[in-house]
Amino acid sequence: MTTAALFDTHAHLHFPEFAEDLPAVLERGRAAGVTGLVTIGTNVETSRGAIEMAAREADVWASVGIHPHDATEADASAMREIERLAGEPRVVAIGEIGLDFFRNLSPRDVQERTFRALLEVAARVAKPVLIHCRDAHDDTLAILGEAGLGARGGIMHCFSGDVAIARRCLDLGLSISLAGPVTYPNARALPEVARFVPADRLVVETDCPYLPPQGHRGKRNEPAYLALTAARMAELRGESPASLGATMRDNARRLFGLD
Ligand SMILES: [Zn+2]
Ligand SMILES: [Zn+2]
Repeated sequence: MTTAALFDTHAHLHFPEFAEDLPAVLERGRAAGVTGLVTIGTNVETSRGAIEMAAREADVWASVGIHPHDATEADASAMREIERLAGEPRVVAIGEIGLDFFRNLSPRDVQERTFRALLEVAARVAKPVLIHCRDAHDDTLAILGEAGLGARGGIMHCFSGDVAIARRCLDLGLSISLAGPVTYPNARALPEVARFVPADRLVVETDCPYLPPQGHRGKRNEPAYLALTAARMAELRGESPASLGATMRDNARRLFGLD
């Protein structure tokens, strides 16, 4: 079996779930063809953790941001610190940032204010954005449309919408990242989305430790399982896993400015 060359655009490998066995997790990922990944911050503390991990591993890069769940802690000093961290070596994006109206762990107006402010940070530091959006597509896309992404672009991470929403994301300059749910029997519109997105705007992620693909549900997700999600996407598109994997890896490296 040919191992595809894959890039995991969204992982949280510096989270406590991996504290016990991170070297083994990284080795299994590499053995499964994961040639690079971005580990994602969700607040000031985890953004620092992402940077520390990326400094230790040659195939890991970092992203810094404040997740909508944590928006209430995004005071002026937190925002200044995220902007400072964004300038650290190996930080390739601002995220994850966005809106989550499913769980509403922070009030909506606070989520929106924080999201807007972090989009301004991304513009000032000239980095792509990694967007988290749950049950909030209209508001998220409206704010992105006002802010404008320019040539930096970004990724709609763990895409959960339909083809019409995917089209609006593409029009705004976002790429689309699919995660484990595209492999589920009840994948809703995701198979159609996997077929619809042009090859140069499609990427893949684990979002580990969350959202393991079919066959590993209920357990901790990890980069080695990225191959299962990528293989399902290739099957849906009628492409070979090796070819689609390499295309998506190239897309990710280009977005993150790694070439
Ligand atoms: Zn997310
Ligand atoms: Zn995430």
